[in-house]
Amino acid sequence: MTGSARPVSPRPAPGTAAALDGFATAAHMVQACRPVEPVYCLYPALLHAAGQRFVSGFGGHVLYAVKANPQPEVLRALYAAGIRHFDTASLTEIALIDGLFPDARCYFMAPAKLTGAAEAAFTRHGVRDFVADHASELDRLLRFADADTRIHIRMKAFDPRSVYELSSKFGATPEECRGLLKRVADAGLRPGLAFNVGSLCRHPDAYGAAIATAAQLAADAGVSIASLDVGGGFPTAYPGLSPEPLDSFFTAIATAAATAPLPPDCVLLCEPGRALVAEGQSIVVQVILIKDDLVFLNDGIYGSLKEMQISNESVVYPAAVIRIDGAPPSSAATRSWAISGPTCDSLDILPMRLDLPVDLREGDWIEFGLAGAYSNAMITAFNGFHPDRWVRIDDDLPPGLRSRSTPPR
Ligand SMILES: *Cc1c(COP(=O)(O)O)cnc(C)c1O
Repeated sequence: MTGSARPVSPRPAPGTAAALDGFATAAHMVQACRPVEPVYCLYPALLHAAGQRFVSGFGGHVLYAVKANPQPEVLRALYAAGIRHFDTASLTEIALIDGLFPDARCYFMAPAKLTGAAEAAFTRHGVRDFVADHASELDRLLRFADADTRIHIRMKAFDPRSVYELSSKFGATPEECRGLLKRVADAGLRPGLAFNVGSLCRHPDAYGAAIATAAQLAADAGVSIASLDVGGGFPTAYPGLSPEPLDSFFTAIATAAATAPLPPDCVLLCEPGRALVAEGQSIVVQVILIKDDLVFLNDGIYGSLKEMQISNESVVYPAAVIRIDGAPPSSAATRSWAISGPTCDSLDILPMRLDLPVDLREGDWIEFGLAGAYSNAMITAFNGFHPDRWVRIDDDLPPGLRSRSTPPR
């Protein structure tokens, strides 16, 4: 053998968490980078654990709802955990998944698709799963559907205890569903049924009730459904919410499916977004100005903090202050502060106040935990602010999860 004696260490592929700059903790990142713009911190072990929890706990196919966080490093971490099915809402999301994972299956689950988008997904990306909740959308799908096409009829289902409802503009009534199911069956296809109980659902019995309704509705229509998609909505334990644990959702779904009048070969699907990604990402922001009790951050409701504005105060990111110069902030003594984003818009203020140290200072950083869902996914470039820096944290847990005993490795 000749040649260099130097061992060749494989380079991590770009777009993977391994290729991001890695730090032991978020404080180490701040120490090294002193970031003046928001930084998204990925905790790959947490993303992996969330993916595995669903893949092993849910008795069917797990479709990741890409809209919750479409960052490639996040998608790849979920793929590595065994997620192979993706709930997509647009051609852009389908092209993203198709480009990253040629062996993955995309489901086009937006009930109102752009003109021509469903057929383009069918011909260009091989998509064979589509949703419809209305006769004209179904007509458009049946025009190009082939024998392998699976049309999922979306039924209205809403649990009023969910934080967001997903059935006021989507979902057919039971009466309409029976008609749509029959039309799919008459076209020679075996339909599926789908529903969404709302996002941030805190009660497993919401799924059980909707499963029973769906199964009965299909039986009444005399249609044998190929699949039942129980949607997304699985919760994250934001401060003050205390939802039931994920396992009780899986148990309630399995129990309801086993007792409902479903065909024996009916496959269960679910579409979690939030519950797969919320825990595995935090955001580090900086305090840029303090005016009396009003704290200006470098991120706000036009950036990554949108959900704290729109969730009726249900989504609050747990916060921890990071200070690298001078005495650390007093962790025990806190007071409530009003929080503003950096834009020149007076609306860019959080609806709730946050408890932060009494001696909070300009220049301090704040790490917000549980911030992986609907954060970077909803940012705008309003006023020219558009955070897009990503790093990896290897040896710590984010705020909101630090009471867990050991960081996963
Ligand atoms: C938003 C959405 C989801 C994901 O909801 P989560 O609450 O994040 O789990 C799943 N399916 C559909 C159709 C959605 O619109």
